[in-house]
Amino acid sequence: MPDALTTPSRTLVPTKLTIGVLALQGDFDAHRKRLEELGAKVVLVKKPEDLDEIDGLVIPGGESGTFLKLLGKEGFEKLRQFVCLKPTFGTCAGAILLAKEVENPQQAGLGAIDIVIRRNAYGRQIDSSIREGKFLQMNGSNRLDSPIEMVFIRAPKIERVGPGVQVLATEGDDPVAVRQGNAMAATFHPELSEDKRVHQAFLKLVVSSLVEDAGL
Ligand code: GLN
Repeated sequence: MPDALTTPSRTLVPTKLTIGVLALQGDFDAHRKRLEELGAKVVLVKKPEDLDEIDGLVIPGGESGTFLKLLGKEGFEKLRQFVCLKPTFGTCAGAILLAKEVENPQQAGLGAIDIVIRRNAYGRQIDSSIREGKFLQMNGSNRLDSPIEMVFIRAPKIERVGPGVQVLATEGDDPVAVRQGNAMAATFHPELSEDKRVHQAFLKLVVSSLVEDAGL
């Protein structure tokens, strides 16, 4: 029997979320596994039209310059339109793509999150590490900050956070996960740790956006 919530117009909240993972290069498969563990249906996004099928998108780590080349002008424009409309979560290179301003070197960003982000900001010697940071969560009006493992691989650094941006996680004094509207970014790789909370937070964002779109 067709599911009344998901068919035919997709305007109501589906019982199973369909999440795309940009699969042009990088570590998209670890995201696929994590999202499936959390109950989502995953579509590997390889062509611009794959974006039409999904409720939210994950842009994985990799090399942001290579992503830009592989996307081309048309792919970049289609992605820019998508992130204006639907929830998108970028990790590492994906976070770089979502930023408003990119340094070291300068390159185009989708402008979904008002941050300045610096590529490869930790230098060659300590370019990859596993560190413990804080995941900031609210329970009503109480702030519940809890430790969380963070895997950094040739990570960028968020150098400036605009006024409309919410910090979701910190490492030392640095913001390492942020959100603005429907866009979320992390400079680390939550798909490489056991902890599922960061992806859960993204799926929550997708559900809220669907609820809002459906006017529920
Ligand atoms: N250093 C990469 C870049 O600048 C990001 C690294 C990653 O995604 N793990 O795009």
